[in-house]
Amino acid sequence: MNDSLYQEIILEHNRKPRNFREMPDADRMVEGRNPTCGDSLTLWVRLADDRVVDVSFKGQGCAISKASASLMTSAVKGKTRAEAEDLFGRFHRLVTGTLPEAEQQSLGSLRALGGVSRFPLRVKCASLAWHALHSALASEAHEVSTEDVGGELSSGEGA
Ligand code: ZN
Repeated sequence: MNDSLYQEIILEHNRKPRNFREMPDADRMVEGRNPTCGDSLTLWVRLADDRVVDVSFKGQGCAISKASASLMTSAVKGKTRAEAEDLFGRFHRLVTGTLPEAEQQSLGSLRALGGVSRFPLRVKCASLAWHALHSALASEAHEVSTEDVGGELSSGEGA
């Protein structure tokens, strides 16, 4: 654990978010909202042969939500749908404080968000882009709100 390094990654991704653009030829577009904090984003995904060939986002929100979306898009680009869902599973356990240290290595830069497990409200900020991705991969749904899955999101509260 190196909190200052992780902090630096978050600040850098917030300042210069990766894949921060609209995607006119996207296959899926999902709106994500986190009313608790006021974060909102639009996520675009282009799929080919069950693989995420391109993913981008635009939106407004706190540093955590923006950095997380930036890190997420960087992490899942090129991955199959199953690989992306698997990554979401591990990421969700990371931010809710239930992912063993040994398994955290596999998350790379995404580990920078691990600190939010100490702040339940921030878990929603860090998860917003991932829930939007999950929705985009699962269906053609157009809107996702962290309020709809609040129980699941706060499951790590007591950890
Ligand atoms: Zn936020």
